[in-house]
Amino acid sequence: MSDFNSFISLVRSIYKTDQFISLHEPRFWGKEREYLLNTIDSTFVSSVGKYVDSFELELSKYTNTSKAAAIVNGTSALQVALRIAGVNSGDEVITQALTFVATANSIAYNHAFPVFIDVDYDTMGMSPESLNSFLEEFGDLRESGTYNKLTGRKISAILPMHTFGFMCRIDAIVEIAAKWKIPVIEDAAESLGSFYNDKSAGSFGVMGAFSFNGNKLITSGGGGAIVSSFEQYAVKAKYLTNTAKVPHSWDYFHDELGYNFRMPNLNAALVLAQLEQIDNFIESKKSIYNEYSKQLAKSSLFLKPIPEGTKWNYWLMSIELEDEFARDEFLKFTNENNIMTRPIWKLMFELPMYENCQRDSQKNAILLSQRIVNIPSSVRREP
Ligand SMILES: *Cc1c(COP(=O)(O)O)cnc(C)c1O
Repeated sequence: MSDFNSFISLVRSIYKTDQFISLHEPRFWGKEREYLLNTIDSTFVSSVGKYVDSFELELSKYTNTSKAAAIVNGTSALQVALRIAGVNSGDEVITQALTFVATANSIAYNHAFPVFIDVDYDTMGMSPESLNSFLEEFGDLRESGTYNKLTGRKISAILPMHTFGFMCRIDAIVEIAAKWKIPVIEDAAESLGSFYNDKSAGSFGVMGAFSFNGNKLITSGGGGAIVSSFEQYAVKAKYLTNTAKVPHSWDYFHDELGYNFRMPNLNAALVLAQLEQIDNFIESKKSIYNEYSKQLAKSSLFLKPIPEGTKWNYWLMSIELEDEFARDEFLKFTNENNIMTRPIWKLMFELPMYENCQRDSQKNAILLSQRIVNIPSSVRREP
C-alpha cells in the first residue's frame, strides 16, 4: 500500500488540492470569454459565423492539412468521413477493439461491419503486423477493391485510432493499406497535438477526425472536425454536414441525403480560443508527465512510456499494473481517496452489439485491457 499512498501524495502535490481530482478537466485561460461574448453580441450564435471559418483555417494550419470542416462532434465526424471514403451498406471496416465505442459505432451508423485487428503493446494503437497478417489471410484484391474471403464483403476502409494521444505506426499502416487499395481514415479524436515524423495526427490517411469533447485536450463544449490533405474531401464534408444543400441564393435544393452535423459558431468561438493555447497546455502536461516519471521510477508503479520517434500531446497518461487483480486494487484505493482513475475501455467484442464481429487473436488488446489504468492528466491548475 505504501506505493499507492505515495501515488496519492504525488497527484495531490502536482494538482495542489485536497479535493477530488478528475482525470481530465478543461482550462479556460485565454480569449474564451471575449470570443463567446463577441459571438453573442454579433447574434451569429448558430451554424454560420466567423469563428467557424477562423477555426477551420487555424486547425488546417496546425495539422498542416489542406482544409478542415468543423463538425458537431467527433463521432459524427468519423461517421461522415467513412461515408465520404466510400463505405457503403454491407461493407466492412477494419479497426481495433481497444478503443472508445464511438469508433465502432461510426462504422455501424454506415450500416457496415467492424473487423477488429490487434494493437501493438507499446503504442496501444493498430498493429501493422496484425493488419498485414489479416489481409494476407483474408484479403482478396480485385479490380474494384479488396474483399474478405471469409464473408465475401468489401473491405472499404481502415480506421486506426491513436490511443490516449500515442501515435500508432501510422506510416506502416498507410503503406499496407495502399497495397490493398483501401483508404485509411484516422480516428484522431484523442491525438490533436501528436506528431509522427513531424507530421500531425489526422494528416496521414485520406481524412482524420478529431473530437473537442469536454474531456479532450482542447474543447468546444461538444464538437469535432474532419481534416484532409485532399481539399475535395473536406469540401464534401462541409456540404454533407450542411444537409447536402446545393449553394444557391434562395433555393432549397438538396441533391443527396445529408446531415445537420455543423458546429455552431458559439462552440467554434470557444475552441478557437482553446487552440490558441494548445502549445502551453502540452507544455504543462509534459512537465506533469516528467514529474510522474521521476517519482514513480522510485516505486513499483510503471508509467506507460512514450512511443519512440513520436511527439505526444500528453492527453491521457496511464500506468501499467501486473494483472487484473493489482489493477482493481489500485482502482479501488485511488478512487476511494478521491483521485479519479479509470481502467481502459471494455474491448469492442465484449459489447453485445459487436460480439459477433470477426477478430484476430487480440493478444495485446486483452493484456492491455487488464493492466492499463488512466491517471489524472489535466493541465496544471494555474497558468
Ligand atoms: C472522444 C472520442 C470519440 C468521439 O468524440 P465525441 O466528440 O465525443 O463524439 C471518438 N473516438 C475516440 C477514440 C474518442 O476518444
